[in-house]
This record gives sequence, C-alpha cells and structure tokens, in this order.
Amino acid sequence: MRRFREITRLICTYGLMVGLSTSITSYAMEAKTTGEVFASEMSIVNNSESEGINQEDNTQQNSNPDSTNQDNTNQEDNNTENSDTENDRSKEGDTSTDNPEDSTQENDTTQEETKPTYKKINDSIYVKKACSVYEKPDTKSKKLGTAILYRKYTRVGIGEDGYNQIMFDGAVAYVKESNVTTKKPTIPTNVVDITDTKYNYDDMKKDIQLLNTYYPDYVTVQSLGKSEDNREIYCIILGNVNAKNNILIQGSMHAREYINTQLLMAQLEYYLTQYEKGSYKSVSYQKMFDEVAVHVIPMANPDGVTLCQYGTNKIADKKLIFALKTMQKSSNYSRWKANVKGVDLNKNFPFLWKKNVTEKKVGSMNYPGVKAQSESETQALVKYTKSIKGLKVALSYHSMGNIIYWDYGQKGKLREQCKELVNLVKSITGYTLVTQSSSTISYGGYSDYVVGELGVPAITIETGMVIAPVSHSQFNTIWKQNKTVIPEVILQVIKNK
Ligand SMILES: [Zn+2]
Repeated sequence: MRRFREITRLICTYGLMVGLSTSITSYAMEAKTTGEVFASEMSIVNNSESEGINQEDNTQQNSNPDSTNQDNTNQEDNNTENSDTENDRSKEGDTSTDNPEDSTQENDTTQEETKPTYKKINDSIYVKKACSVYEKPDTKSKKLGTAILYRKYTRVGIGEDGYNQIMFDGAVAYVKESNVTTKKPTIPTNVVDITDTKYNYDDMKKDIQLLNTYYPDYVTVQSLGKSEDNREIYCIILGNVNAKNNILIQGSMHAREYINTQLLMAQLEYYLTQYEKGSYKSVSYQKMFDEVAVHVIPMANPDGVTLCQYGTNKIADKKLIFALKTMQKSSNYSRWKANVKGVDLNKNFPFLWKKNVTEKKVGSMNYPGVKAQSESETQALVKYTKSIKGLKVALSYHSMGNIIYWDYGQKGKLREQCKELVNLVKSITGYTLVTQSSSTISYGGYSDYVVGELGVPAITIETGMVIAPVSHSQFNTIWKQNKTVIPEVILQVIKNK
C-alpha cells in the first residue's frame, strides 16, 4: 500500500505532465528507457478511455487494484466499498446509494422512491475548478475521477438534487452543479516566452505542463524515454491521437541549435490558440488537426542543450562530468553539438551507419558512437518514429544556414514525394535547397533514417544565419519564415492521402 501511495504521489507530480492515448501506450510500455513512474502511468492510461488522456484523470481513474484501494481509503464505509462495487457492476442500472447494507443483497427497491429525476440536456460545460466525479449523485459513492479545468465535458442531465450528469470516460457520471459552468475559462496566452534569450529545458518542461493544462482536449503529452543524464525526451501530440495521418517535427538534436526548441514550442502554442476557431486557406484547424496529428519533439537532446547553455553546472551525473572534462580542456561548451556523452546523435541513427567513420573520438561533434543507436536519445527516437502508424512526413529542425537538406539518395516515388515536400517548404521559408552528391552525403542522420529505412519523406531544415548558437535576435525572422510550415505540410498530406 505504502509503495503504491508513493507511486501515486509521484504520478501526481509527474502526471501533471503526462497524458497518454491508448494508441501510443503500448509503444511507451515497451520502452526500456521508460522509468517506473512512467510505466505506472502507462497502466493507468491503459485503463482509461476516450477522455482519459489527461493528467489528473489518469491518477484518479486508475482502476488497478492497489490504487483502487488507495482511493477507497479516502472514502467512508470503505470496508464494504469493494464488494459493493463488484455488486454494482453486475446490477445494471442500479442507482442505489452505497449503503453498506446493500451488500446483504436485500435490494434497492426501497431506495428507488427517492431516486431524483434528471432533465435531459445535451450541452457543453466546464468545471469551475478541478472537482470529483462520482458514480452516483452522492459524494459518498464511488469516485470515478476528477473533472479538470479547461476541459470541455458533455452534460446530459440536470438534476433537482444539485447534481449534473456528465459524460466521463464514455459513461454517465455525476458532478455537483455548484462546480459546473457553461462559460469557457479564459486561457492565458503567451505561455511560451519568445523573448527569452536562453530558452532551456526547464522552461520547455514548464510550458509543456501549462499547455497540457490549458488545452487538455487538443494536446497529449508523453515522454519517449530518458536522456543519458536522466532528462525526459518529451513529445507533444497536437490534435487527434487516432488520426490516420501523422507528421513528426523534432528539434535540438544538436545541442547548440536550441533556438529551434523555442520555435517549435511557440508554434505549438500558436496552433493551439487557433485550434477551435482559426483556419488556414479556408480549411479549419479543427479539421486539419483531426485528420493529421502533429507529433512535436521540441528537444531531442536535452542534456546537450543544458550543457551548451550552462556548462557542466546542471549535469547531474558525476561520471558524465568527469568524462566531459577529459573530452575538452575548456569549460566552455557553448558550441557543443553532441549529447552529454560526446556522441553526435545525428550520426548515430542506423541507416548506413557503418559509412559514418569521419570522427573516431568522443567530443563536441561528429563522433557517431560505438554502434548505431548506442545512445538512449537515438533509441527513443527510433522506437517512437517506428511506432507511429501512418507517418507521412518528418521534419528535422537544425541550425544554421537557411538551407534545407533533402537528398539522401532515395529513388523513384519516394524521391518525388520528398521533392514535392521540400519544394513546398522552400516556397514557404525561402531557404535554399542543398542537393548532396554521393561523396558528401552524411549517413546515420535522423532524416536519412526516416527516408532510407522507413520510406517516409523527411527533410532537414536549417534555420538562422551566421553561427550556432543562432543569436536570439534572429528569432522573429525565423518565426516568420517557418510560421506556416505546419498547416502547409498538413494540407499537402491531406491532398495526397
Ligand atoms: Zn544540426
């Protein structure tokens, strides 16, 4: 019991971050890199359906036996609660209260006389604050979970008894009317601070948490696994997690190119603000994100970014710090590209990895690792990318040069698809296409992998000018150049499907 309480408490903390859809749960459950806390969340998510992709719900809707016990410890009459619950399930339509005497099976006809009537309705409501949802119109009845702020619920009944019926996890549940409002709560804007000149891992983590809170119906947050120094590799799905078409966008695989994390986070927030009412070229965002889900991995190399921004001060693992200090004498890591172990992640992917032998030693850039996928960050990305059914496009954001790499030696139809994609992105950004000759093609990169191994069109977009880390003064320009990449790519995917 105590152990489960601890885990549940951890989930409450972590759970704020992570909501998972059933479609991606199986992937995450298998992930070796996924820690215990996340594994617990996975099982929780498995048990919840439809609405159950959000934090607090997940902690509360947990129906695994141990945590049900935990829930019940908070309830009165808990000794009889479990058996009652079992009985209730077999007695369909039973709306009697949870009087412990029920367990004698004396039956409930006496109580049905007091059964309140509910006026049928079908509208959308919100709750004024996070509040409990019950199986019956009785706060002593089984708690089904927590209704959360900013999530829209369908209301199906208004009772005379001070309760409303709402749809919760696909079933009718009860919530106190005093907690209900038809007015949508005001959502704060400018969550992602685009004026921050050093947008870091903690900023991103906090913003993901906030966006997940403010837009619970439109984003799904998960961790793809841990980095070598134990940071989360976050992925946020914008839109319909069950969409048949998907695009993936990732940034900051190279440490010093972290301006792209801020770019992707700002784009994510912008499209969330547009989700309900906005449109692009006469197509509503609602329709776009319903048909095509956007998987955003804003920081593929969180340790590297942290090292680049703060030196070894924020690296936790002493062994890693020691190894770093043997890699370079200088304590200035601001031009670092690799991960914290000195492996260049964009040379660590499995496609034609053997050809990747330019650098033999660990260090700030170019070392491909002892073998393909030797790094936890690479493993997490490979595993996740492979798991997405219906992946149509992958975009990798790097810096710098205002150029786009697209030619990885692909042939035939795939080459034509890549050409169409890259020409589209070129027309939006104004960036220059780079066609590599076979002698200059680098192998072991993420885009190479997606094209070469998965047969999915992928390109690498290099933002900014002069030198990486790109000066923050270029952010607005980069933002404007890339602002409509997401809807344009979605429209192309819709057109080609
Ligand atoms: Zn790069």
